[in-house]
Amino acid sequence: MYDYDLLVVGSANADLVIGVERRPGAGETVLGSDLAVHPGGKGANQAVAAARLGARTVLLARVGDDGHGRLLLDSQRAAGVDTVGVLVGGAPTGVALITVDPSGDNSIVVSPGANGRLTPADVRAAVSLFHASRVVSTQLEIPLETVVEVVRSLVPGNRFVLNPSPPQPLPSEVLAACDPLIVNEHEAKVILGDAGGISDEPEDWARLLLAKGPRSVVVTLGGEGALVASSEGVARVPSVKVPAVDTTGAGDAFTAALAWRLGAGEPLAEAAAYAARVGAATVTKEGAQVSFPTAAEVASL
Ligand code: ATP
Repeated sequence: MYDYDLLVVGSANADLVIGVERRPGAGETVLGSDLAVHPGGKGANQAVAAARLGARTVLLARVGDDGHGRLLLDSQRAAGVDTVGVLVGGAPTGVALITVDPSGDNSIVVSPGANGRLTPADVRAAVSLFHASRVVSTQLEIPLETVVEVVRSLVPGNRFVLNPSPPQPLPSEVLAACDPLIVNEHEAKVILGDAGGISDEPEDWARLLLAKGPRSVVVTLGGEGALVASSEGVARVPSVKVPAVDTTGAGDAFTAALAWRLGAGEPLAEAAAYAARVGAATVTKEGAQVSFPTAAEVASL
């Protein structure tokens, strides 16, 4: 009935990574390793993660008419994502400049570039993709007004999934559309407007978030798994014990897997349990997009 299981609306960045002995202070120059360039950005990551699992996936995003944009288009196509919705031009491709020291601590500067030029008009022009997709998923690395337009563009039958990262307070119109809102601890506290007075219990965050309007909430807890909350109550989703090598992209893979399984009709707790296996498989490998598992790899975990 639908052409796509998942429409991802979101960011696409080139991650430019240099290893350094010590991250530079103000006015300081340090020498680093050879430059590594990786496709990234939460929208691009989610689309690749979903397609790798077998979801029929289409990406609505904007990249620059430059080499980084071509890298991103190539990585999407290689994973099997339909790039019919990827707009080209208007600004340079978004870039994350990342320095990493030997302890793994990093400093990151993001230039949103073309991501910041993905406009509400771009969303309206892509209305056919909403009609063709079961689930619509987005994040906050594109302008908030564009996210609002995504919510206004949902058509009957669409299910909307939001990972509000990087977090900011959200209009009630957006919160009310989420089914689910997917947050980690930091995101939960920003959305709740934490001034230090919120308990340390994720169950409490989930209940408080639900009271803000989403139809369901998922809180991801890293190596502790996740929990799901809806009108049916709050339930823990156990983590899968794995040797964690690199957690980059775990949240994006979790969100993509959850969105896909919900679209296939699975109940929230079951879909989240599958997503936790996908997140766990992701942390067993270095990198973001290259670490996303296939369905066969998840099954053999
Ligand atoms: P990131 O921003 O690093 O991509 P996140 O903070 O949004 O991640 P996490 O909670 O770290 O999201 O991870 C998402 C899911 O991946 C978790 O709910 C869990 O199911 C799985 N996961 C993450 N880390 C581990 C781990 N060390 N072991 C097993 N599963 C993990």
